[in-house]
Amino acid sequence: MAIERTFSIIKPDATRRNLTGKINAKFEAAGLRIVAQRRIQMTETQAKKFYEVHAARPFYNDLVKFMTSGPVVVQVLEGENAVAKNREIMGATNPANADAGTIRKEFAESIEANSVHGSDSAENAAIEIGYFFAGADIVG
Ligand code: ADP
Ligand code: MG
Repeated sequence: MAIERTFSIIKPDATRRNLTGKINAKFEAAGLRIVAQRRIQMTETQAKKFYEVHAARPFYNDLVKFMTSGPVVVQVLEGENAVAKNREIMGATNPANADAGTIRKEFAESIEANSVHGSDSAENAAIEIGYFFAGADIVG
């Protein structure tokens, strides 16, 4: 298996409840390294662009509102098979369907306020990392 990087966001529902450390502990316990991290307030423009792929979905406007409702922590996670591994650690989009022990099962409030974002492919990971980090910000 190759060492990969994936892009992660700790969402506003989780920063509001002060869960950044607990979520990061899950990544680290599973063998992912946080090789870049920054706490930001996403702008509406950034959130719209980030979730552009969902622009036609009925939940898009609410999702943009939610993602700009408080601070988020943007991160780059590195490790073997990082994209798929992070999706496993996160759990299903809807916390009602998430496996025991996953971040979304333990922490998510709803299908929208589901605590974390994780890239769904290596290709998207590279694009998403590029929205928020320059090469020199990432220290592996
Ligand atoms: P994932 O984050 O698991 O990759 P998606 O890419 O399908 O899920 O959706 C992006 C985000 O949009 C989700 O994490 C969640 O915050 C929100 N979302 C997805 N589906 C719904 C829905 N049916 N209702 C409200 N919000 C949703
Ligand atoms: Mg997705």
